[in-house]
Amino acid sequence: MSEFRQDPLSRRWVIIGGERGGRPNEFVEATTRATGISCPFCAGHETETPPAIASYSSNGKGKWLVRVVPNKFPAVTTQDALPTDSSPLASNGKAAAAPGFGSHEVIIESPRHVASLSDLTDAEAQAVFAAYRDRLLKLKAEGPYRYVQIFKNVGPAAGASLEHVHSQLVALPGVPELIEQELKSCGEFFQQQKRSLLLDMLERELAAGQRIVRETEHFIAFCPYASRFGYEVWIAPRRHQPRYEDVAAGELGELSGLARDIVGRIERAAGQASYNYFLHTQPFDMPAYDHYHWHIEIIPRLTKVAGFEWGTGCFINPYPPEAAAEHLRSLAE
Ligand SMILES: [Zn+2]
Ligand SMILES: [Zn+2]
Ligand SMILES: [Zn+2]
Repeated sequence: MSEFRQDPLSRRWVIIGGERGGRPNEFVEATTRATGISCPFCAGHETETPPAIASYSSNGKGKWLVRVVPNKFPAVTTQDALPTDSSPLASNGKAAAAPGFGSHEVIIESPRHVASLSDLTDAEAQAVFAAYRDRLLKLKAEGPYRYVQIFKNVGPAAGASLEHVHSQLVALPGVPELIEQELKSCGEFFQQQKRSLLLDMLERELAAGQRIVRETEHFIAFCPYASRFGYEVWIAPRRHQPRYEDVAAGELGELSGLARDIVGRIERAAGQASYNYFLHTQPFDMPAYDHYHWHIEIIPRLTKVAGFEWGTGCFINPYPPEAAAEHLRSLAE
């Protein structure tokens, strides 16, 4: 049995279930740990990265816990001219081009050579989520950017090129199409229902209960109804909040602890899986919307994105989110 489902936010379709879960997979990637290779992100190797843009330590003194540095191999740079088009990256129905203007940064998340968010200490994890907020605020104040994509790749199947735990950030002069689609879905829902789409989704999830993984005082972690991947989990604030940079300082520890716990559960469920996560938040150059609502999407990379997905944009997920959530709930520390 399988089922087509649509995610109301991205409007992406998925196929849940089917007989594919039990099929053989000869190509499960072995997680190879690079040993003996000099790592530019480890403590003591600070001169191997460009100078830090920001640095965090316990109580603001002593050795660093988290460093933010420019990416040595950036996808976009501020050397390129700022595009004159007011909306680069928007779909305008023609073959468009714009200079590759932007900022590409790396957030090094521990001085120790560890690989995953789940390996971080409380202080490191909290500093990471504070760094996300601080970089958003700084880049917003700088002016030329409209959107900042914060993301993490862990493990070879998730596209990580360096093992040492880190996130990346790309500040862009335009709003990417996927975010535009989410804004559009939220805007249309708000016009009809006069409320936040994601808040509505969260309330439905809480009422149903079966896809909730964990609730804390201010945040909810759940397996979305139209999950693209087995053990996909989204984290969102319980109350309506359009912009990540508005998370209260007092809630950063709760959020980083929850994210680390969820990643740890996914790794225990799926055996040190490769994963990506990314933050979706409201673009800079607009007042706080009544409808957009920030969230983090965590996608374990247990199955490959292959021909059907590339060809259709529709994902096949053999493992239903209801079963995934039940399993993840059972894996509390
Ligand atoms: Zn390292
Ligand atoms: Zn909301
Ligand atoms: Zn999203």
